[in-house]
Amino acid sequence: MNHNIHYRITPIDPFAHLFEVCMEITLPSEAGHCLALPVWIPGSYMIRDFAKNITQLSATSEGKPLVVNKLDKTTWQFPPTKKTLEVTYQVYAWDLSVRAAHLDQTHGYFNGTSVFLAVVGFEEEPISVTINPPPLEQHNWRIATSLQEKTAKRYGFGEYEAKNYDDLIDHPVEMADFTLATFEACGVPHDVVLVGQHRTDMERLCRDLKIICEYHIRFFGEPAPMARYVFMTYILGEGYGGLEHRASTSLHCKRADLPLVTDKTDEIKPGYRTYLGLCSHEYFHTWNVKRIKPAKFFPYDLTQESYTELLWVFEGFTSYFDDLALVKSGLITADDYLDALAKTITSVWRNPGRLKQHVAESSFDAWTKFYKQDENAPNAIVSYYTKGALIALGLDQYIREQTNHQKSLADVMRLLWVDYGQTQQGIEERAMPSIIKKATGVEVTEFLDNTVYSTDDFPVEMWLEKLGVQCQLRPRKENTDRGGYSTELSALSSLMQPNLGAQFKSHVSGAELAICYTGGSAQKAGLSAGDVIIAVDGLKVTQQNVDSLIRSYSVGETLKVHAFRRDELMVFDVRLLSPQKDTCSLSWLSSGLTEDGKQWLA
Ligand code: ZN
Repeated sequence: MNHNIHYRITPIDPFAHLFEVCMEITLPSEAGHCLALPVWIPGSYMIRDFAKNITQLSATSEGKPLVVNKLDKTTWQFPPTKKTLEVTYQVYAWDLSVRAAHLDQTHGYFNGTSVFLAVVGFEEEPISVTINPPPLEQHNWRIATSLQEKTAKRYGFGEYEAKNYDDLIDHPVEMADFTLATFEACGVPHDVVLVGQHRTDMERLCRDLKIICEYHIRFFGEPAPMARYVFMTYILGEGYGGLEHRASTSLHCKRADLPLVTDKTDEIKPGYRTYLGLCSHEYFHTWNVKRIKPAKFFPYDLTQESYTELLWVFEGFTSYFDDLALVKSGLITADDYLDALAKTITSVWRNPGRLKQHVAESSFDAWTKFYKQDENAPNAIVSYYTKGALIALGLDQYIREQTNHQKSLADVMRLLWVDYGQTQQGIEERAMPSIIKKATGVEVTEFLDNTVYSTDDFPVEMWLEKLGVQCQLRPRKENTDRGGYSTELSALSSLMQPNLGAQFKSHVSGAELAICYTGGSAQKAGLSAGDVIIAVDGLKVTQQNVDSLIRSYSVGETLKVHAFRRDELMVFDVRLLSPQKDTCSLSWLSSGLTEDGKQWLA
C-alpha cells in the first residue's frame, strides 16, 4: 500500500538560518510510525548526527496534537492515527559544507539527509516534496537540483518527486540568485550552477566540462546512466571539496581557481586544473561508487557506520582516472599531468603513517581515522585517495606490461560497470583479484598483497620508468615544496638542506608546530605539535622565516630552540638530521613520450 509521503520545506527564517519542514503521511500505518534522520551521508564516511540540528518537532492529526516519544538521538515515535499524520519541525542550517545544510539571505542549500526524516520501514515508498521560496521581500532565487520535477517548472519553486527515500536524499538542492549555464554531453543536458560572487568565463567552463563529461561517458560506454546532470559550485575565497551524487555534484571551490572573462589565454593554470580535476573526480563517481558499489552499501545502513575495505577502489581509482582523463582528453598537457602526479606521490611519501596502515585498513577505519584527523594523523594513517591512486597507476602499468597494452585498468572499470553497475550487484570485499583477472586475464593477487594489503613502500619509480617517466625522490627545498614536473632532476639530486621534519602554522608570537613527523629533528628533540617556537639560537622566529633560518645550518649541527608549550617556556637542543627523501620530481626519460608512454597517456 502506498502511504503517500509528502514533505514541504520552506527557508522560513534566513536570518536565523532555519528551514521549516512539514511532513504529511496521508494514509498512515495502523501501527503508528517512527521517523528518523540518517546519522551519515553517503560519500562522506563519518557519523555526523544530523538530527542534532532539528528543533521544535511537533505532530498533529485532524488538527489535534499528538504525544511524541523520542526513542534515540535520531528517531521519533508517533501514536497510530486514523487520518493524516502531520509532523512539523525546524532545521538549523549553518554548516557551509557540501555534506549538510546552509541558509542565509544570499542562498539556501540542503542535502535530504539533513532535512527529511525517513518513515522507518517505508523507505521504498514514492515521495513528493514541495520546495517553497524564502520570505524575503525581494529575491531572484531559483532552484538547482537533479530532483525530478512533478508540477514545478525546471529551476522553479514548487513540487518535485523521488522514487523512494534513497532517491530523495541523493539530489541536493541549491536555491539562490545563481549563475546558470548549460551544455550537452553525448546528448545529455548538463547544468553548471555557480553560487557566490565571481567573474567566471562560463562559455569556457562549459566547453572544458563538456570535454571531460564526454570523455567519461565514452570511457564507460554510451548511453550515460543519467538523463541529466547538475554541477553545483559554491564559490569561496578559500575552499575545496566535493560530494558525488547519482545525477549531480556539490562542489566548493576557491574563487581564484575559476577562469575569468578577462583571461587572455586558453592556458590551464594550476588552480583551474585543480578545479577541473575535482569536477572530473565527482563525475567519474557517477559510475564508480554511485552505481558500482561495495556489497556492504547494498543498501546503505544510514543508522550506523558501514564498514568496507574497498574505498581504495572507489576513491583511489577515481583519483587516478580524474586527472588521467584531463590529459587523455587533451585538456591538459602531459607535462602538467606529470606535475600533478608528482604532487600525489609527494603527499604519500611525506606521511610516515603509510608505513603503519595499509589502504584497506584506512578504508575500513575511515569513520574514526581518515575523517577525524588530528595532529598525529600523518604519522599514523595513510590516505586511500592518494595511495589508492598510485596503486591504480601501478595496476594500470602492470596490466599493460603483461598484455603488451592490449588491456589496461580501463578494461577493469568497464567490466565493473557492465557486471556490477548495470546489474546493481555489489562487489564483495576481496573480489577485486578475480574481477581484474576476468577483465584482463592478468593475475594480480600478489600485486595487491604487496600494495593494497601492505605497508611497505612500492616501487613507484620502476612503474613509472616502464611508462617512460623518470622519478626522483629527494629532500624538499622548503616547506612549500610539494614536488612536480621538472627538467632539472640532476640539479635537485644534490639537495641536502636540513629541515625540522615539521609543518608550521602562523602564531602571533612565533611559529606554531602543526605536525611533528615521526623521526624528524623536531620530534627527536622533544618538540610537539602545538608548541610555539619563538627563537632559534637566540633569533626571533616566525612562520615566514623559520624555513630559511633552518636552511642556513648544515645537517649534523645542533640548535638551541626556545618554545612555549602552553604558557611554559621550554628550551630544546635540536640536532639537524639528514632530511627525508619525501618529495617527488618527475621528468621524461627521453625527449618526450616513449611508445609505452604514448599508449598510456595518448
Ligand atoms: Zn571521491
